[in-house]
Amino acid sequence: MRGRLHPALPVEGATQAPTNKMLKIPKKNIEEMISHARQAYPTECCGLLAGNSGIASNTYRMTNIDQSPFSYLMEPKEQFVALKDMRKKGIEMIAIYHSHPKTDAEPSITDIKLAYYPDAYYIILSLAEPMRPDIRAHRIIDGKAEEVGITIV
Ligand SMILES: [Zn+2]
Repeated sequence: MRGRLHPALPVEGATQAPTNKMLKIPKKNIEEMISHARQAYPTECCGLLAGNSGIASNTYRMTNIDQSPFSYLMEPKEQFVALKDMRKKGIEMIAIYHSHPKTDAEPSITDIKLAYYPDAYYIILSLAEPMRPDIRAHRIIDGKAEEVGITIV
């Protein structure tokens, strides 16, 4: 639903746009995001995925300081620590993820309005059908969301 990434996040943490149109995520990272979404339920979870060449390798769980089923706001200090860790590991932020506990995996109007990172993928995990989580990724540029395929590697 409503999505907010802290605007104070340094932009240098944002990644270069991968040239391929498929987002590659290892099964391990998919499972980490799903279990995070389930643990946070019924509030939204949020976090970051980082890696190289458009392939995710690290999941960073963030605290949703909104503690809301309808919105998220990443804890700014945790974001800072995550970006520092990425720099240390030589990896880049690839995606920003959050969950929709009761609605589908489409970006909400607010998710689109508050998407500050045109180079990042926005991943939404829907738990609307709890036994069958739906995960979708979008690029959100100039107020337009375009779905990007996810390949599990
Ligand atoms: Zn949302």
